[in-house]
Amino acid sequence: MTTATRNPLSYLHNQIEDLKAKGLHFRLRVLETEQRPVASFDGKEVINLSSNNYLGLTTHRGLRKAALEAIRKWGVGSGAVRTIAGTMQIHMELEEQIARFKNTEACVVFQSGFTANAGTVAAILGKDDLIISDELNHASIIDGCRLSKATIRIFKHKDVADGERICKETENWAGRKLLITDGVFSMDGDIAPLPQLCDLAEKYNCIMMVDDAHASGVLGRGGRGTVDHLGCHGRVDIQVGTLSKAIGAMGGYVCGSRELIDWLYHRGRPFLFSTSHPPSITATCQAAFALLDSPEGERLIKKLWANTKFFKRRLKQLGFSTGASETPITPIHVGEAAKAFEFSRRLFEAGVYAPAVGYPTVAEGKARLRAIVTATHKRAELECAAQILAEVGKSLGIV
Ligand SMILES: *Cc1c(COP(=O)(O)O)cnc(C)c1O
Repeated sequence: MTTATRNPLSYLHNQIEDLKAKGLHFRLRVLETEQRPVASFDGKEVINLSSNNYLGLTTHRGLRKAALEAIRKWGVGSGAVRTIAGTMQIHMELEEQIARFKNTEACVVFQSGFTANAGTVAAILGKDDLIISDELNHASIIDGCRLSKATIRIFKHKDVADGERICKETENWAGRKLLITDGVFSMDGDIAPLPQLCDLAEKYNCIMMVDDAHASGVLGRGGRGTVDHLGCHGRVDIQVGTLSKAIGAMGGYVCGSRELIDWLYHRGRPFLFSTSHPPSITATCQAAFALLDSPEGERLIKKLWANTKFFKRRLKQLGFSTGASETPITPIHVGEAAKAFEFSRRLFEAGVYAPAVGYPTVAEGKARLRAIVTATHKRAELECAAQILAEVGKSLGIV
């Protein structure tokens, strides 16, 4: 066989054909404008309910200025991993700023929320250890758990009694134990029962870890997350957050004790083996955290919640089910994946972008649209989106 015809990846063709047959195949939508509440994708201007840009910071004037100044002062890249030559002064300053913000001893910034979760769990546990994890935890937690080679036990979503059942069964576990949950669940928008999970962690001597990717900049005073919102300061050993959602740029961070952070400097593999953020990203994040604690930040968070309440109320009035959501993440339940994708496609044609999510992101039979409200949506835009949702929903027999 000649090299021109050799294709050891030919099985992918059949797998993709299978996705197409099931109506689950997608093309990437390409954003042609800035990430804003009304944006143009694939040549079409739509009301954009698809981003995690909760506070509209992706295009914030002050943050742009901070990024540009950092480029002028320090260049476009850091040139190395953190442990060699890639730790710049602004990296240290940002970490100190986040630690103060979160009221913890120390903080380390990773390249993304994904690497923060995966790198941390894999660094602190090994094969003799045990992880007790909510069934709807984010993929980056799941991957971190697998990388650690620890034993993984899954409790039913937000079910503290089921968590306790596992804690009791493993009471005499010889290794270390980690209890881990998302603060806000990314596909359902519901909030973890954090105080009760902290009770469990304390009673059964587990390390307590929370991933607050969707809570940072959204819940708690100044957007300090679920630990602040639910009054759990001092009870959570490891807090993860993202810089890619409400903060508007890119990155992830871990807050906790000085020793935890020191250990992650030595054993967090993405920290050790992948280059640190360019100065522009770091400076953007510094400006964003300063903004969260300013009157402008307070105003944006208030607006985010007012918009969230308005949009959810309208969807309910129009007959949609938004499930258990308690946050700006607004799932619109459909059920069958092919129907959810069709709903999303027709909505887009009608001028609203709300992506469909199906298996493997959510369980089979639980497909939905996932709409996210931001602080920078205008009331009229949300009302228009609700009307279009109702029209298209009716045409598909969803409402
Ligand atoms: C988005 C998300 C992450 C990943 O964050 P990135 O900074 O985008 O890598 C981690 N955990 C949860 C719960 C998320 O929703």
